[in-house]
Amino acid sequence: MSSRFFPARYENLVPYVYGEQPQNGGFIKLNTNESPFPPSPAVYEALSKGEVDNLRLYPSPESSRLLPLLSRELGVPENMLFAGNGSDEILALVFMAFFMDEKAVSYPDITYAFYPVYTSLYLQKAHVIPLKDDFSFDVDAAIAADSAVVVANPNAPTGIALPISEIARLAEALPDRLIVVDEAYCGFGAETAIPLLSSHDNILVVQTMSKARSLAGARLGYAVGSPQLIADLKAIKYSFNSYTVNRLTERVAVAALEDKAYYETNCATIRQNRAYTVEKLQKLGFRVLPSEANFVFATSPDISGKELYLGLKEKKILVRWFDKPRIRDYVRITIGTEEQMNALLKETAALIGKGE
Ligand SMILES: *Cc1c(COP(=O)(O)O)cnc(C)c1O
Repeated sequence: MSSRFFPARYENLVPYVYGEQPQNGGFIKLNTNESPFPPSPAVYEALSKGEVDNLRLYPSPESSRLLPLLSRELGVPENMLFAGNGSDEILALVFMAFFMDEKAVSYPDITYAFYPVYTSLYLQKAHVIPLKDDFSFDVDAAIAADSAVVVANPNAPTGIALPISEIARLAEALPDRLIVVDEAYCGFGAETAIPLLSSHDNILVVQTMSKARSLAGARLGYAVGSPQLIADLKAIKYSFNSYTVNRLTERVAVAALEDKAYYETNCATIRQNRAYTVEKLQKLGFRVLPSEANFVFATSPDISGKELYLGLKEKKILVRWFDKPRIRDYVRITIGTEEQMNALLKETAALIGKGE
């Protein structure tokens, strides 16, 4: 129950329910799309005694070591970049900066669960755009809704990606609406919308180091957009908290970004393990949506999503199950190492009576 100090405007606030994070180990964790690989070896080296000594100092409020590197990596000038405490924080700042006075914001019925949470926190109303029958994003419906759009690309939990020509079509049809493209899963196969930024000033791309760069625990996300959009985000950030990216996080993000080879190898391994997992799940009779992410969304005619989730949990394997219309029969499985995937496949086969 709330205190009597909590205002009525939060009556309908529905906080995000995060995936289970068991702290006692023993689980094969395929439920929150983390990387199965540790951060780059360069990250270990970066955490020197000198860096610890420096913790007495405030971090750079502008992440001035990181942004020049990101600028080179992404091929955009620094004034088009904004770093934050994970992309979740950046998305919250985006809602605060741009959507509070909007009548509504559009996003799909099945997408990242934080969008409805930010909506309930900041503006109350959304146009919930049903995904098409094949679970792809309905661009025409989003155009018809004529509001700002938040779209995860690839989408979560489906893994389905939209070609950037479709993002361009959306941005061109709604030139006075902001189109936020959440690319949390960049690196695993989908095209980035960053090349559209030079010709479309109403697109803002958000990426993260949590997934493909194995830094979920460090919390580092960034936005890429027009210098004006970035200036607006900074105005909101500096009205809230100047030091959102701490010293150690900036340091490890720099190290991770410098080790491009490690990143590319890990992304390639995940794509390979994904193809392997999809093939094996299909052999077990599953329908698997086409994924460009580090997870797959799958359903079996032989077992309900809930039974599969609970059955795997009993075997110490965590996957994500959403008790929601349209997707109740699916589970979302993070792609891990080949060994982890083999454990998942073996227990799954046993649960549906197809084990050896
Ligand atoms: C994981 C995820 C995020 C959150 O990323 P952080 O940078 O760890 O906050 C944002 N959007 C989507 C779609 C995600 O799946």
